[in-house]
Amino acid sequence: MLNLVLFGPPGAGKGTQSEKLINAYQLVHLSTGDILRGEVAAQTPLGIEAKKLMDQGMLVPDDVVVGMIETKIDSNPGVNGFIFDGFPRTTAQAEALDKMLARKGSSISMMLALEVADEELIKRLLNRGLESGRADDQNESIIAKRINEYNTKTAPLKDYYSRQGKFHSIRGTGTIDDIFSSLSKVITSSVK
Ligand code: AMP
Repeated sequence: MLNLVLFGPPGAGKGTQSEKLINAYQLVHLSTGDILRGEVAAQTPLGIEAKKLMDQGMLVPDDVVVGMIETKIDSNPGVNGFIFDGFPRTTAQAEALDKMLARKGSSISMMLALEVADEELIKRLLNRGLESGRADDQNESIIAKRINEYNTKTAPLKDYYSRQGKFHSIRGTGTIDDIFSSLSKVITSSVK
C-alpha cells in the first residue's frame, strides 16, 4: 500500500495537491477537516461539539479524529492506499495511527511536508475565506490561532517521522503543477 501523510500548515495547499495525487496514484483521500465539516453540516452531536473548537481555531480531541479515521479506513478495504490530509496533527494522533495501521498489517510509507511562509499562508487563507465562505478562514485572529496550534502541536511531527526516516520537505510555493511535480518525484524515488 502507498500511505502518504500530506503535511503542512493551514493554507499550505494540502487539499489542492491531494486532489492531484489521488488521481495520479489511485489513492483514497482522507481529510479530517473535510470529514468534520461534513459532521458540522449534518448537525450530528459530534459536529455540534467539534464546531465550537473549529470556530476558535483549536484542535478537536485526539480520540474523536482517530476514531473517525479508523472508520474511514475500515470502510475502504482493498484500496491502493490513503492520503492523510490534516491528520495526524499531534504526536498522540501519529502514534495512534501507527498502531492502528500495524494492527491492519500496514504502515505509513512517507510524510510529505509542504513548506510555506506564514505571511503567504495568511494571504492564501483570507483569499480562500472570501471564495469558500469558510468561517475559520475569514478572521485573522482565528487564522493566527490555527497557525499557532500548528507550530506548537503539529510541527513537532516532522521529528517524529524523521526518526522513522519518512520525512520529506517540499517547497509549497510556485505553481500548483510545479509543487505536484516535486511531490511526485519524491514519491517515485522513495517507492523504488
Ligand atoms: P483543516 O480543514 O484541516 O484546516 O481543519 C479545520 C479544523 O478542523 C481545524 O482547525 C481543527 O479544528 C479541526 N481538525 C481537522 N483535522 C484535525 C485533527 N487531525 N486533529 C484535531 N483537529 C482537527
